[in-house]
Amino acid sequence: MYQPPFWIYSRRHLLFWSVSIVLFAGISACGADYDTVIQGGRVMDPESGLDSVVNIGILEGQVRAISGDNLDGSRVIDATGLIVAPGFVDLHRHGQSERAYRLQVQDGVTTGLELEIGTPNAATWYAAREGGQLVNYGVSIGHIGVRARAMGDSVLGSGGITARQQSSPDQISETEQLIREGLAQGAIGVGFGTAYTPGATMDEIERMFSIAADLGVTAFVHMRGGLEGLDSTLTAANNAAASLHIVHANSSGGGNILEFLEMIQMAQDEGQDVTTEAYPYGASQTGIQSALFDDWESWDDERFERHQWVRTGERLNRETFSKYREDGGSVIIHGRTEEMTLAAVTSPLTIVASDGGTGHPRGAGTFARILGRYVREQGALELMDALARMTILPTLRLEEFVPAMKTKGRIRIGSDADITIFDPETVIDRATYLEGSLTSDGIEYVLVNGIPVVYEGEIAEGVRPGKAVKAEMN
Ligand SMILES: [Zn+2]
Repeated sequence: MYQPPFWIYSRRHLLFWSVSIVLFAGISACGADYDTVIQGGRVMDPESGLDSVVNIGILEGQVRAISGDNLDGSRVIDATGLIVAPGFVDLHRHGQSERAYRLQVQDGVTTGLELEIGTPNAATWYAAREGGQLVNYGVSIGHIGVRARAMGDSVLGSGGITARQQSSPDQISETEQLIREGLAQGAIGVGFGTAYTPGATMDEIERMFSIAADLGVTAFVHMRGGLEGLDSTLTAANNAAASLHIVHANSSGGGNILEFLEMIQMAQDEGQDVTTEAYPYGASQTGIQSALFDDWESWDDERFERHQWVRTGERLNRETFSKYREDGGSVIIHGRTEEMTLAAVTSPLTIVASDGGTGHPRGAGTFARILGRYVREQGALELMDALARMTILPTLRLEEFVPAMKTKGRIRIGSDADITIFDPETVIDRATYLEGSLTSDGIEYVLVNGIPVVYEGEIAEGVRPGKAVKAEMN
């Protein structure tokens, strides 16, 4: 059963709500005007526990009124019968292109952050997106990429020496320096893909964790090695006193998902700052040249068939796998049962995060799939619980070192008007393993910094209200 985290229904928040609703209803009665009013929707805010049909007044990109009274707005969105929620925050979003941003907003995402692999150069990454995007965007400084820079490797992390070679002491110092530089440029924490860099020793990883700890940011890790790997990752983070986020518990835990989550729970119980996330699909996706597949020649035939070539949708065999591994490209790996996915998605520990790019349906359907399939159809999650995993939980993971997040992930007076409005009766994913870019249904309106980017279910063309989200060092 779902037990709400303590802050969700705390008395203090309920008191706050009754006061603020009266207060701001008063202001609106004096003739205050709003750019946009969201009228008649069921507003659900997991942080405060607000779950009520009220109107929202938005001015200059912020929520300025939450009221049972009518509000005057230049634009009025009729949200009757719809849920009005804080915009979804995705901690793990590889697609950081216009094409991927379009899929994200139609899945309800207002802030999409690439925190797992990250970037080798934060300044360049942010500069390339200046001037606004459809969603709020941000990135971590990536260990794989800076390791490649330190090693003078041009093929960033896709094989070669970055993945498999041990760093020299000089290269380790250089990697540390580049991580510090990225964090100074506003990167959101440090991203790791230790599964992709078997050449990096756990000592090296621990040293990089120490930098994250030193600067007060979180390490986001695609770890290696199953339960044993989880144990060594937890230990390294604990030794370094680093805050740790384990990405995609569902795929990293695999068939051992219950033990995997139990170990994270135990670490939390012992006071370690560790969190995790999951996406609601039974298949993974990665580059076919990655070090994950270094043992491919020893596989049996059945294992190849679980691999689907994204470009054509075909299932692979020994011959085609070998050919495509030489060419390079993206592969979807089928293999987890629905039971495993359900365990990951419904665990009280997991934040919803897509790991999405393009190709795999998770890039287009993760959030609508949780709301449609696991909340409405299966009743496996309560709606407020599911929303908490998409809004306030990822926000809390970041806001200590990313001040911009303090006004995201919630609907309250003064918060950014990042808002997702959906139909609880129809919301559902449509993307499939063969058509990974089919947009979700039932996401009716999405506002980013007060500007609609989805309106009546369609993308609003020509608007770019999404801003850079950056960390700030003490
Ligand atoms: Zn990953």
